Amino acid sequence: MSGFSPDHPGAEVRVSPNFSPRRGAHRPSMIVLHYTGMETGEGAEAWLCNPASAVSSHYLVHEDGRIIQMVRESDRAWHAGKSSWRGEADINSHSVGIEIVNPGHMLGYPPFPDRQIYAVIDLCRGIVNRYRMRPEHVLAHSDVAPGRKIDPGERFPWARLFDAGVGNLVKASPIRSGAVLRSGDKGQAVEELQSMLALYGYGVDITGVFDRQTSIVVEAFQRHFRPRLVDGIADGSTMRTLSKMLATVETSLG
Ligand SMILES: [Zn+2]
Repeated sequence: MSGFSPDHPGAEVRVSPNFSPRRGAHRPSMIVLHYTGMETGEGAEAWLCNPASAVSSHYLVHEDGRIIQMVRESDRAWHAGKSSWRGEADINSHSVGIEIVNPGHMLGYPPFPDRQIYAVIDLCRGIVNRYRMRPEHVLAHSDVAPGRKIDPGERFPWARLFDAGVGNLVKASPIRSGAVLRSGDKGQAVEELQSMLALYGYGVDITGVFDRQTSIVVEAFQRHFRPRLVDGIADGSTMRTLSKMLATVETSLG
């Protein structure tokens, strides 16, 4: 494909060959946000357009706020990998992928510049409106691939997106000492915690045992919704924040 007109007004187009048709979905219903985890934005842009990489995203947002579109929104970009949300395993077929230029945890994890965040907000708003997406379907790669991915990470300003009308968030409950569930715990309380995480959308098996997968998913939840402390321990603040998050989607869960 030599080119296409951008779905997002103002986006520059640089075509990636790494895409395929959406399977079982004609329109995306969610957004997955990533960071690039590479030294430079230019390097990331080239990689996402290189046939040898076999990865891509619909959009890349540079640190200066420039938005590059590489795959049409009607096509399936290859960004999520093995992932799941609310029982759906082919996240690529159901989502728009946005790569946000940031070198990531392995390379110092600098803050996301304001201009970049304004551009991400503008881009997400357009996509959410085009496809009438539910606010709780604006997700992190770490939400849909816990244990495997941690991007865009706990420094990503979800609250600023939420204040601008993008995504779903509650004010995280303050962190205090108190009853906790942690690795090795067993019983009904653990089963309830797992059920709540699964009901919100996370891929977690309900075993009644606070096993490794539970701790990993609790970390993923914290990274997005209670980023001040990401430790995989279900403390009171985590539990209360999770209950509040579930209450926000109660009606849509039917
Ligand atoms: Zn990612």
